[in-house]
Amino acid sequence: MNTLAERYVRLVLAVGQHDADYVDAYYGPAEWRTEAEAGKLPLTEIASRATALAQAVAAAKPPVTADEMTQLRYQYLARQLDALRARVSMLTGTKLRFDEESKALYDAVAPTHTEADFANVLTQLEARLPGSGSLVDRYDAFRSRFIIPHERLDAAFKAAIDGCRSRTLRHITLPPGESFTVEYVTGKSWSGYNWYQGNFRSLIQVNTDLPIYVDRAIDLACHEGYPGHHVYNVLLEKNLLRDRGWIEFSVYALFSPQSLIAEGTANYGIEVAFPRAERIEFERRVLFPAAGLDPSTTTQYYDVLALVDQLSYAGNEAARRYINGTIDAKGAADWLEKYGLYSRPRAEQRVRFVDQYRSYVINYNLGKDMVAAYIESRGNDRWREFARLISSPRLPSSLITPNFQLPTPK
Ligand SMILES: [Zn+2]
Repeated sequence: MNTLAERYVRLVLAVGQHDADYVDAYYGPAEWRTEAEAGKLPLTEIASRATALAQAVAAAKPPVTADEMTQLRYQYLARQLDALRARVSMLTGTKLRFDEESKALYDAVAPTHTEADFANVLTQLEARLPGSGSLVDRYDAFRSRFIIPHERLDAAFKAAIDGCRSRTLRHITLPPGESFTVEYVTGKSWSGYNWYQGNFRSLIQVNTDLPIYVDRAIDLACHEGYPGHHVYNVLLEKNLLRDRGWIEFSVYALFSPQSLIAEGTANYGIEVAFPRAERIEFERRVLFPAAGLDPSTTTQYYDVLALVDQLSYAGNEAARRYINGTIDAKGAADWLEKYGLYSRPRAEQRVRFVDQYRSYVINYNLGKDMVAAYIESRGNDRWREFARLISSPRLPSSLITPNFQLPTPK
């Protein structure tokens, strides 16, 4: 398996020569990257090597008597490699529909929604945000009272990171020396990004192009940091790469099933670290004051956000229609505005995100809901199950248990 895994890592690095977003993190042998850069294999050669590797992997299937981690490792490598082949095929011109693409790359398909599915939630928001003008404008005006002023951003983030980190460390043991740095950037299609560097370190970038609302402090600190991407990558490096020597975990191919697990656990991790009541208490006591906001408005703000959160699948729908060519970029932004309550600049930023990352959007909300359903089906100790999930190579389709059900807008 180690030889097959090395061939996989080298192929991921080779694809990275054609697709700047593909290699999200790499901390294996430096000479492998140098060789990939120097060799710059053509896509057709990568495709034929990937086919040969898939055959070799199929022939190395472990016996049914092998232990669970061996089985998981094998299934994961085989499926990650399938996703690599799909991405290479896309890079050579194959056009996939949204659902075909998400199945091929992320091992999951998001449910389809119509306008009517969001009507009830929009009606509830109409009642909560009375006044004239469109609902999205009223929501934007309401939200504008919860912007973190630029000069208070860093203090608010630091307070949020402290809160997320201390809660995480009560339940998950991290190797000594783990840490990350935060940078503020502009001109990106995303709002935050964790660039994992290896050696238990991350660089977290926060995009300040658009106003940052107070809820983003905990969301970003948990999602990008603790117990989200930073912790996920640290545990993969510690448990799978260093302790077991599984070299395939020295590379992270962005357009692969791993991303559904990464984004899904990062988003679900927000709720694990901060269940609603604890979050409201922390926001009121720590973050609203850090951001210079009125703490007495905390509950009101989070009640509205909970409703808007039920519109998240409207974002997938806009992306699906846009990728499938049913609507154009303007139509996608219109959809996001009307059914997802994205302000115009945010809707346009999101369309740019879809241009760059396409069906990746499902990893956030479908990923979260899949991870939540899986973890909650396994008993009451959410932290234990969470730590177990992010320490083992599990595929998205394997999270779907017999009682699996996604939440619907209500
Ligand atoms: Zn993320």
